[in-house]
Amino acid sequence: MSRAPAIGGLRATHNRALVLARRPAPGLVTPDVFRIEDRPRAEPAEGEFRVAVRYVSLDPAMRGWINEAKSYVKPVGIGEVMRAYAAGHVEASRHPGFVPGDAVQGLFGVQTHAISNGERVVKVDETQAPLARWVGGLGMPGWTGWFGMTEVCGDPGAGKTVVVSAASGAVGSIAGQIAKLKGARVVGIAGGPAKCAYVRDTLGFDQCLDYKAGNLAAGLDAACPSGIDVYFDNVGGEVLDAVLPRMNVFGRVAVCGMISAMAATSPPDGPRNWRAILTQRLTVRGLIVFDWADRTAEAIDALGRWHAAGRLVIREDVRSGGLEAFADTLNLLYTGGNDGKLVLAL
Ligand code: NDP
Repeated sequence: MSRAPAIGGLRATHNRALVLARRPAPGLVTPDVFRIEDRPRAEPAEGEFRVAVRYVSLDPAMRGWINEAKSYVKPVGIGEVMRAYAAGHVEASRHPGFVPGDAVQGLFGVQTHAISNGERVVKVDETQAPLARWVGGLGMPGWTGWFGMTEVCGDPGAGKTVVVSAASGAVGSIAGQIAKLKGARVVGIAGGPAKCAYVRDTLGFDQCLDYKAGNLAAGLDAACPSGIDVYFDNVGGEVLDAVLPRMNVFGRVAVCGMISAMAATSPPDGPRNWRAILTQRLTVRGLIVFDWADRTAEAIDALGRWHAAGRLVIREDVRSGGLEAFADTLNLLYTGGNDGKLVLAL
């Protein structure tokens, strides 16, 4: 086979893929957990197409996907390409539904070129929103906010007080704005004054509490004088401990994520205030966005219409550095270093 010259480290006939080399130790991810493989670029078989990936979504769940533990999906295997949502363009196709040039979003993995059979792939409209946004607020994190708030949290509206943690992030920002658009009073929780100002002043939440400033419990009492009807939990840990005793009778808690535990070096001791579930007769429900995989069009339609009308604010934090920067960029999620949906440009 003739070898095309390397352009920016990538041969025109090659796929660069980030592969799991070993299971990580507890804590933040170290770059040696992965290796980069330079592979021949595969040709699509009948019913398949090939995508040139431009943006890889970095998601907190990735830290869990590389552990050898029971979860809602199989762990990424040693030697397998790292699982990831990504967006790019079709560059070759033998699939009747996709043609070269189509902009697409799907589970393409952390690699420059992916082969797909179209399963769970969404064709996206770049005139409606830039490509990176289709792995963010209009992609999987946005769908999580939509199904989490409308289905799991019971679609709270006027008269309800909703609290959302990791409120400035990809999921929390959407979840909170949905509740606000539906008329609820919404209180965010985020780390630091800059993120809190963004949540309040740009996303339009009623208030935002800085959990890093200390005394979150007193802040919640002041911000939620009638108690909390709905808690959309993205973080678990001490924030959950502070919210649970302030829940109203028959309130709902959506357990969307536990990022405080994901890169921790030891398991959490909590939740400490589990008793509130009994005394307040709470409905606590875990959610995994994959459960609504056949209904993503619904979320895209609702979020897309608000976005087009200028009523939904979405922010991406797009980082450069390519595959080599994957591990260090991913760690930003567990240290609060991202401002909005974290995306890696390839
Ligand atoms: P974000 O964009 O919100 O980024 C993660 C944020 O979490 C950080 O910026 C940081 O914000 C906050 N954080 C990190 N460590 C801690 C900590 N110890 N205590 C409190 N907050 C912390 O990420 P996503 O929106 O993509 O994900 C948010 C949550 O939603 C995650 O738990 C994720 O696993 C979950 N998720 C669940 C899905 C599902 O199907 N169930 C689907 C997608 C995401 P700050 O600086 O404010 O602390």
